[in-house]
Amino acid sequence: MTVHHEEFAQRWAEAIISTSYVPIGRRVLDERLLGFVTQMVEAALAVEFDPAAGRQLGVDMVAAHFTGTETLRESLALIAEELPALLGCAPPGVDAAGRVAQLVAGIAAGYASALRERSLDEQDAIYRAGLRARRQAEQALADSEAKFRATFTEAAIGIGIADLDGNILDANPAMQKMFGYTHEEFTQRNVYQTMVHPDDAPSVWETNAEMIRGERDHFRLEKRYYRSDGDEIWTNISVSLVRDEDGAPAYQVALLEDVTEQRRLRDKLEYQAYHDPLTGLANRQRVTERLGQIFAGPAGQRRVGLCFLDLDGFKVVNDSLGHDVGDELLKTVASRLTRCCGSGPLVARMGGDEFVIIIEDTTCVADVAALADQVQATMAEPIRVGDHELSVTASIGVVEQRVADTDPDALLQAADITMYRAKADGKARYAMYDQRRNDNVVTRFTLSATMLAAVERGEFFLEYQPLAALADRSLCGVEALVRWRHPTFGVLGPKRFIDLAAESGTIVQLGRWVLARACQQVRVWQDAFGAAAPFVSVNLAPRQLHEPALVGDVTQILLDNGLEPSSLQLELTEQALMGDDTGPLTMLTKLHGLGVRIALDDFGTGYWNLPHLRQLPLHELKLASSFAVGLQSPSHLVDQRIVAALVDMAHALELTVTAEGIETPLQLARFGAVGCDAGQGSLFAPPGTAQQIDALLQAASPFGGLSGESL
Ligand code: C2E
Ligand code: MG
Ligand code: MG
Repeated sequence: MTVHHEEFAQRWAEAIISTSYVPIGRRVLDERLLGFVTQMVEAALAVEFDPAAGRQLGVDMVAAHFTGTETLRESLALIAEELPALLGCAPPGVDAAGRVAQLVAGIAAGYASALRERSLDEQDAIYRAGLRARRQAEQALADSEAKFRATFTEAAIGIGIADLDGNILDANPAMQKMFGYTHEEFTQRNVYQTMVHPDDAPSVWETNAEMIRGERDHFRLEKRYYRSDGDEIWTNISVSLVRDEDGAPAYQVALLEDVTEQRRLRDKLEYQAYHDPLTGLANRQRVTERLGQIFAGPAGQRRVGLCFLDLDGFKVVNDSLGHDVGDELLKTVASRLTRCCGSGPLVARMGGDEFVIIIEDTTCVADVAALADQVQATMAEPIRVGDHELSVTASIGVVEQRVADTDPDALLQAADITMYRAKADGKARYAMYDQRRNDNVVTRFTLSATMLAAVERGEFFLEYQPLAALADRSLCGVEALVRWRHPTFGVLGPKRFIDLAAESGTIVQLGRWVLARACQQVRVWQDAFGAAAPFVSVNLAPRQLHEPALVGDVTQILLDNGLEPSSLQLELTEQALMGDDTGPLTMLTKLHGLGVRIALDDFGTGYWNLPHLRQLPLHELKLASSFAVGLQSPSHLVDQRIVAALVDMAHALELTVTAEGIETPLQLARFGAVGCDAGQGSLFAPPGTAQQIDALLQAASPFGGLSGESL
């Protein structure tokens, strides 16, 4: 290798670079070409010239990617021109020029053939790549088809495909199982034969038609079907439209999920929520709901009837024969009621032995009464439970009203109250609702239920009525009379609520409040008027004498207000002391022992048990106002003698006597004439406020102007 070789190689490299893209660096290129130059020189100078050497060089050039468009031409020109000089003096017998020419021709031929082969290779590669891509695409399609098939076949949800006319084209195994048809059977069926249920809402198939027209792409709903064996199934179905390449509707695909089990469970729960487990009748919830529906719609002239039925003496059956017998009895009653009412009215068990029948769209109360009659009749037949033959009767409250005039609660309550009237009237009958009586009961009920809270809210207040000494017309005491300032009913007198308070027991709290309030007031009067202050007379209900805490309460209240026991008088009626129970008398004795005054109120209205009076620890007898009425009457002489005897007797027992209800001077005169000690009544003053009593106390002689009429 000589310097000339290297120079040649470099010139060749420059020629190649200018004609072709060479993917190797310059140094490597130079080395490569130097290799070629050496090969050429050796070939040209070889002892035996190989004509194939040039060809090989051409092939090598192509392999080395010296394949630019001008590369061959430039290279051959360079070789033809410069190579002879490089060979120097050739050995003898060597035709250097001829060999160069042969080399050049060989290079050209080798180059051309290598280039052709290479482009054939390239075409082949492209062809192969194309083949490979197609095979891959086909494989992918086959894969996705297989995947789809697997999904279709293995899916737990039913999949069905139909054309736009509803002909079923395919149905997967899940769908076949769901409906009980084979694939074969399915493909011979139509959507409309198979999927329509008589209870489908019309909208279901309208929506389907919309989809088929291409107006929507899918819809879903919960729907039921008949299986091939006639059983019913529920599914969640979602139907989608498949369009062709142009977007026109082509197929419909339905996905169905079997929800029959969930649906059954839901139905069962719903049933349980609205039915009585023992009798299978509707329950209270259902009644509330049905009434809610009736009253929710436009009332117009709509009427509704209700029977509230309670078995008579059911508790006795339950207690004496056991709950199993009781349960059987209730079941029989339930089935008789259902039979008697037919399909129209709703029969429900409200609990225990209470049943309700709701009749919608009645015309008048007679409709409901007729049904109540029938119910009574069906009950007449004795009921056999095991060895027992039971006679059952029912008390029924019948209500029939315009929907517009009432509401569900009021209707039920009215029927309930009316049922109690049927009971009170002797059972085994029905009673018809009576608005006025009902109002009374409702008011009583409302008052009773709210009274305790009213005590705490301070809705009660006291009025005071003077007790006047007849001898000097002075104000010696006042009677405290309770009133209720009711937020809706206005001021209520004690006759409206004292009995209710006694029934409910609220009288205990109310009584304590009255005592405390009255004593506070006496404290105020004593502070203001000293010895001239009146004592206060407080009424005690019989029930209060049964409260062990009473003595303690009274003691504490007197103490709290710094009052002498003699400042307080307690009024009680004979009724409180009747009966075998000695408790009230013991209580009275204790109160008497405290030193408070005890008065027997309303004497003459009750038992007139005169010998009994002797044994009672009393200070005073209050004559009921009926005596005042008697003294006013034309036959007053008889009454006057009776009153005189009573006054004498009372005085003999060392009791003072106060006459109640003195309204006229004549009455005042006549009570005075028989020796009555004190009087109370509108003639002196009606019950009034503490301030009105203040005014009387401030007056020098409050009742001085009252003179008894001449007798
Ligand atoms: P009572 O103890 O006999 O009270 C006298 C009743 O006669 C009062 O009726 C009074 O307003 C009324 N009266 C007043 N002046 C006249 C009159 O000139 N002629 C007639 N005919 N009556 C007159 P009121 O306030 O309606 O009280 C009725 C009853 O309620 C009382 O009868 C008493 O038994 C009871 N009561 C009142 N306040 C209380 C209380 O705080 N506790 C209890 N347990 N019962 C009370
Ligand atoms: Mg009284
Ligand atoms: Mg009285």
